[in-house]
Amino acid sequence: MGFANVDRGPTNAYAEGGRVAIYPNAVVKIVGRFTDAAPMRNRVNFHTAVSDATSLFSYFNVYGNPCSHFYVAEDGTVEQYMDTAIRSEADYQGNDSTISIESWDGYGRVWTSGAVPGWNAAQLASLKRLTLWILRTHRSIPPKLAKDSIPAWSSFGLSWHRLGIDPWRVASGLHWSTAYGKTCPGDAKIAQVPQILQYVKTDHTLSEEPPDMVIIRRASDGASFIVIGGKGSRLINTADMNQYMAAGAQTVNLTDAGYAQAQSRYLS
Ligand SMILES: [Zn+2]
Repeated sequence: MGFANVDRGPTNAYAEGGRVAIYPNAVVKIVGRFTDAAPMRNRVNFHTAVSDATSLFSYFNVYGNPCSHFYVAEDGTVEQYMDTAIRSEADYQGNDSTISIESWDGYGRVWTSGAVPGWNAAQLASLKRLTLWILRTHRSIPPKLAKDSIPAWSSFGLSWHRLGIDPWRVASGLHWSTAYGKTCPGDAKIAQVPQILQYVKTDHTLSEEPPDMVIIRRASDGASFIVIGGKGSRLINTADMNQYMAAGAQTVNLTDAGYAQAQSRYLS
């Protein structure tokens, strides 16, 4: 099944671009040029930074560079660069729906040859707590492993960058990078993701169930369409909409930009 998905929790405020989702254990260093609200929160993407840096702030804080939401340093310190309600720039076509976590890998000092190393114990412990906080804050991200980068349920949950990078990307999947052959975050880290999943699944309030129907509404003028099973349909009149709402469809109000993006994703 495929789904548009929206937060059902306290984060609808992000349609207004409010700063509502800052991880309490993060060292917060806001990269101020990112202000667009993300229309959807469907997955956490894990990355490896190919860096020995203690912080990525000075790199991210340069116009034109990408920027993730988080960085997990060698000692497990979590830095946050933007509210998780804001759209980051680390996952290309997945930016509208992805919360991105970069991580230290000791490149050039600890990692000098061979494949990308796994997360160390301090990083893994931090990633478990951070990921649980993200899933509690954005309940549209289910506690399950993603399988691909198709903009549907199969790509929701705990994910990693190369699911959207050729040659690992499946044919109908989105490109999460323009690079070819970038292994991010590498076999060793990917093999650790199930440990993070196991940890977050200890919270039994998190739901693995996909929402059946979502009404996507443009806040400025009320234009709406419905997404059922990942397919969008135009709503002919308000009676239709009321019927879907009575049947349990949730409504998400989006900015003009967010609505245009959702339209191109689900109505074309
Ligand atoms: Zn990456």
